[in-house]
Amino acid sequence: MRTYTTDYLVIGGGLAGSTLGFLLRQAGANVIVTELLDARAKSKLCGGIIASLATKTFETVYGTNELLTLQPLQCQDWTTSCFESSYTIHTQYPIVQRKDLDDYCLKRYLDSDGILLDRVKTTAVNTAEHTAVCLDLRTKEHLTITYNTLVAADGATSLTRRMLTGRKARFVLTLEGTVPNIGNYIEFNVMPQFNGYCWYIPRREDAQIGCIYQYNYSQGRRERLRNYCNRLGLDVPRLRSAPVPSGDDILLSAQENTWFIGDAAGLADAFGGGGIHYALVSAQLLANSLLGSTPYTQAMEPHLQELKKIASTVDQRYLAICIKAALTRSDSQQN
Ligand SMILES: Cc1cc2nc3c(=O)[nH]c(=O)nc-3n(C[C@H](O)[C@H](O)[C@H](O)COP(=O)(O)OP(=O)(O)OC[C@H]3O[C@@H](n4cnc5c(N)ncnc54)[C@H](O)[C@@H]3O)c2cc1C
Repeated sequence: MRTYTTDYLVIGGGLAGSTLGFLLRQAGANVIVTELLDARAKSKLCGGIIASLATKTFETVYGTNELLTLQPLQCQDWTTSCFESSYTIHTQYPIVQRKDLDDYCLKRYLDSDGILLDRVKTTAVNTAEHTAVCLDLRTKEHLTITYNTLVAADGATSLTRRMLTGRKARFVLTLEGTVPNIGNYIEFNVMPQFNGYCWYIPRREDAQIGCIYQYNYSQGRRERLRNYCNRLGLDVPRLRSAPVPSGDDILLSAQENTWFIGDAAGLADAFGGGGIHYALVSAQLLANSLLGSTPYTQAMEPHLQELKKIASTVDQRYLAICIKAALTRSDSQQN
């Protein structure tokens, strides 16, 4: 059995994990990041919409605004449609090709001599002995990693969270597929009665289409997305399913020396996605805390308040969108 010893073991080499790894390496710490998939080939499903807070955090963490060079387009027109009506809002939110963003963060970690063990699955954690047992999926060999601090960054279905707490986090399933680019605008097709929406987001050559619905209404997702495709005159693409944390089941630490960041902590806004910002900011605040600054749970408090506020205003936001759509329709009818 191969053995490793490290100060920080980070499980999950996505946005949150590689960002934390990068920040810890900047301070000269020993870090091992393990990743279940082939880290260079994996491509996460994601709308790629970058909230302005995420841009700021990215600049603080990476000391550059290179994020802006990753964006394929700056969509100025967002259309929100509700029932039969729709309206357009103007916004500056950039969109990135998600794989470009993940590749960038991973490269910065690797360039800082971070150790990455990919195609490696953690199968057991012994928190008393500070040891994780992993399986190398390429060689089928078992490895043991002894750590001082364990960080779970393994996404919305976090296996680490299940191993440490005995239960998985709450998440909502989304569906997403690739369609031809039929227009350089973003559309959200809101269905308030199902507490969810479909989206169309253009890319470089193609576009993403998808839908997200809250728990109770997740059953009919496929059919609603099919209807949405029909409405846009598009064939239904091959669809993939992906989890987003529900945003109301947050866990920052399970016990001493174990921490959760990004989706593994449950840090996402299931209504609007918004997880890129939370993945970056939780990695940044945990790194600061581990390196001696404000304790992580304390530093995260304003962000948890923000998420709570989002969760409690979701219904009102749907309502506001519907009212605005209806008003826009009557405005345009009058003109
Ligand atoms: C369809 C969809 C659209 C979205 N659109 C947006 C958007 O437009 N804007 C936005 O801000 N957010 C969006 N999000 C949310 C955003 O993608 C996530 O919040 C963000 O990726 C979280 O980053 P993370 O590093 O915590 O998790 P992830 O990016 O999921 O990374 C977790 C990593 O852990 C690895 N892993 C999993 N299990 C193990 C294991 N047992 N051992 C080792 N490694 C493991 C995974 O392979 C993965 O690489 C969207 C999400 C989805 C699903």
